[in-house]
Amino acid sequence: MLKSLRLQLAAWYLAFFSVLFLAFCLVLYGGLSRALERRLDEGLAMTVNISAKLMQEELDEMDGDAPQAAEEVISKMGPSSGEIAILEGTRLVAATDPGDKADLESAAAEVVGGSSERAAWILPHWGKSGARAGTKHLSFRGRTFVVLAVEPLDSIVRGLQVLRQTFLLAMPLLLAIAGIGGYLLTRRGLAPLGSMVEQTRTITGQNLETRLEIGKAAEELTTLAASFNELLSRLDQSFASMRRFVQDASHELRTPLAVIRGEADVALSHERSTAEYKESLAVIQEESRRLSRLVDDLLNLARADAGHVQLHVEQLYVNDLLSDCCRSVQPLASARNIELECRPGEDVAVRGDEELLRRMVMNLLDNAIRYTPPGGRVSAMIEAHGSDVRIRVADTGVGIAPDATGRIFERFYRADKARNRQQGGFGLGLAIVKWIAESHHGAVDLTSQPGQGSTFTVRLPAIN
Ligand code: ADP
Repeated sequence: MLKSLRLQLAAWYLAFFSVLFLAFCLVLYGGLSRALERRLDEGLAMTVNISAKLMQEELDEMDGDAPQAAEEVISKMGPSSGEIAILEGTRLVAATDPGDKADLESAAAEVVGGSSERAAWILPHWGKSGARAGTKHLSFRGRTFVVLAVEPLDSIVRGLQVLRQTFLLAMPLLLAIAGIGGYLLTRRGLAPLGSMVEQTRTITGQNLETRLEIGKAAEELTTLAASFNELLSRLDQSFASMRRFVQDASHELRTPLAVIRGEADVALSHERSTAEYKESLAVIQEESRRLSRLVDDLLNLARADAGHVQLHVEQLYVNDLLSDCCRSVQPLASARNIELECRPGEDVAVRGDEELLRRMVMNLLDNAIRYTPPGGRVSAMIEAHGSDVRIRVADTGVGIAPDATGRIFERFYRADKARNRQQGGFGLGLAIVKWIAESHHGAVDLTSQPGQGSTFTVRLPAIN
């Protein structure tokens, strides 16, 4: 088996060319031999027609003296017309070469016995390769004459033999040229592939921004290079976002860890009162909670990216879910002096993972309360829209600037970094909301007016 594509293509090309050349030779050879025989037959037919006409005239002129008339015809036709024989019945009257008498008479016997006006035989002892004959009957006063013209096939056979030899000689030469030509052509055509291989070998995780350059090449290869470059772009993007994710995650982990460590260092630096120890432990507890929330979020997103989150899908009523979530965040809203209005409406069923959907609604409500100043209002409602269920969480809070709305669902993105960090967020809540909505074949939208408030709408497919 040939492993090289170049050799395989060249071999296929050679095989195809050989079959084509062979077929060409056969067609040419067959066509030529038929054409030569036809021409010979036509020549013979003409000779016998003319000879028969002359014989008729001579017999008339010589009053039926067949031998003399026949001799006259043969001398008029001349030697260039090949072998002519005139027979009366099957008896030879005259011939160009009377030495062939026996053959000519046996040929004439066949003509007389046969029905065809012009027959063709191969006379095996005529020439090396047999002969071809043309015949014509003629009647004169009740007597039957046969005019026979015979031409050996030697010249045709010799010509065809030369053609065969030419083919045999040309065949290996042409095949060699075709094989080498095919190989050189495929090598030239596939050269860009070699250059692509060289270039891809130099691409690593460090230089994913590199793109393949193949210059002018066949369409298939430029398409291959373009697809490969698109793949590189996608890899580059996901590598970059992975790097950013790792950097952001480490950065976020650093702050609570530094607080915990600092608090512990201060508490242990000298003897303190029980109240002071309690205070330090409370700080450490709060930071540890934040830390484990962050680690949970990171883990969830990493699992989601890897496609390892198994949804426990069941039928549930989103209005019940919304009521539960509102009840859970009510104390937080009251503590911040925010009016929480919950309008779950009538029963609306969806299919989904209850825990994840609860998490999604809690994140939206939690954000709405956190980013709304005291005295503001947060409302949550369910709307059924044809095949969709919409969960809407609106607030009268700080709102989001238009340039930030496009990035708000990105991981670790915070519209106002300093303030949001103080408020305890990591910038992962909305990324999780988006992932949960999409994993339920839904989507999340945002409309916001800075200083006036924001509305987040999650669309989920309803069960009809
Ligand atoms: P965080 O944990 O920081 O709140 P999120 O992913 O939940 O992270 O939100 C990302 C950013 O979007 C927040 O830092 C905040 O700037 C902005 N944001 C989210 N919800 C609201 C809202 N209801 N009103 C105003 N800004 C919001």
